[in-house]
Amino acid sequence: MALSPLFAVPLAAYEVPVVGVGFDQSTVTVLGVVAIAALIGLSAFFSSSEIAMFNLPKHRLERMIEDDIPGASLVKGLKDDPHRLLVTILVGNNVVNIAMSSIATAILSIHFGGLAGVLLATFGITALVLLFGESVPKSYAVENTEAWSIRIARPLKATEYLLFPLIVLFDYLTRQINKLIGSTGPIESPYVTRDEIQEMIESGEREGVLEEEEHEMLTRIFRFNNTIVKEVMTPRLDMTAVPKDAAIDEAIETCIQSGHARIPVYEGSLDNVQGVVHIRDLVRDLNYGEADDGELELADLIQPTLHVPESKNVDELLTEMRENRMHMAIVIDEFGTTEGLVTMEDMIEEIIGEILEGGEEQPIEEIDDDTVLVRGEVNIEDVNEALDIDLPEGQEFETIAGFIFNRAGRLVEEGEEITYDGVRITVEDVENTRIMMARLTKLEAAEGSTEEPDSEPARVEPDENDE
Ligand code: ADP
Repeated sequence: MALSPLFAVPLAAYEVPVVGVGFDQSTVTVLGVVAIAALIGLSAFFSSSEIAMFNLPKHRLERMIEDDIPGASLVKGLKDDPHRLLVTILVGNNVVNIAMSSIATAILSIHFGGLAGVLLATFGITALVLLFGESVPKSYAVENTEAWSIRIARPLKATEYLLFPLIVLFDYLTRQINKLIGSTGPIESPYVTRDEIQEMIESGEREGVLEEEEHEMLTRIFRFNNTIVKEVMTPRLDMTAVPKDAAIDEAIETCIQSGHARIPVYEGSLDNVQGVVHIRDLVRDLNYGEADDGELELADLIQPTLHVPESKNVDELLTEMRENRMHMAIVIDEFGTTEGLVTMEDMIEEIIGEILEGGEEQPIEEIDDDTVLVRGEVNIEDVNEALDIDLPEGQEFETIAGFIFNRAGRLVEEGEEITYDGVRITVEDVENTRIMMARLTKLEAAEGSTEEPDSEPARVEPDENDE
């Protein structure tokens, strides 16, 4: 009942064009419908432009320019100022959408009267814009990003000239507002960040786009630039080296015994490494060298090597070693003392995983789901990964032996145990002062609840014979 007066006027108005009296009104209606159709086309153009321009990755655009695709440089010109581009598209899109709804309201009001006209125009135009001005063109643009960005580049540039005053004004105003609210606007940030790539790798594996091995290798590549030499080096204790005054056949013997092709040569002590000799040169010179006039010396075969601090990043060192064509570098600490050596293989293993030769044992041996046997020199990061635990990383120790030693605060003996954050660490093998092997067991949740909290120092529990 309340609605009837509302429809009384429209019905009367509707009859006028039907009986052909209001010719002017029907002309207006036809013109209005044509205008709405044209505006929907424009709305589709702007919406699809937004998707095509902002979904086109930089690298693909650069490729298009390299391939001399006509129009690609115009696309680049527009994308070079993403803020201006977005304002152009938004101003254009809003002008056409609002014009469309105004025209529709005017026409529908003629036929259906004020309020009904407004309601019909609101819902009708919303439906039309959503379908034909937004979703259809946007879906098309997503699938045809490259081709569509080329097609719309020229008309978009023309729009920029046509709406120039409006665009300049809104460009200025939005920049000011962004400044006020402390935002630079997401469109001005790099098109892809490191974190985004890492997230993509994670979800890539979850979705099955990446194999597990590919995922692991990509993850390691991202970790690589945070890795320092100390984490990958062979420590001083395991270094095989020869003194400079050794005979060549002695050096060959040392290489053979140790199974290494390159050995550092030192003068006096290991803290004074002069360079490196390769077994190939030693053998070649022993057998085919010009040894007529006297003894050939080891010093003649020494190749220079790099001395690097233990805190150096491995990605930098890898580049340097490749540039200098060196396979081995000597690692020194801040006092100039030799700490160990590092080879290309040590660094490449960080990306592709452990490379084991001949009789080499696995550094981490899985006993069961909750227990592993770990060699002392294994990095804590790798132990954490293997058991899915959380021992502290990035502190003054790198290896599991370093961790045990640090927690104990003194030398430990075989059989001693540490409990830390739900993990029981048992020292399995000690040679002299060095922890060679440890067993790590993830404690059951029930058992874990009785262990000491994180903040307390871990207790070293000696076995019966100890101390
Ligand atoms: P090689 O095949 O001669 O052993 P790689 O570069 O393949 O040399 O290194 C394999 C592993 O052996 C690496 O962990 C590296 O640190 C270590 N290594 C290489 N040469 C020596 C050496 N002279 N003394 C001790 N360890 C070495």
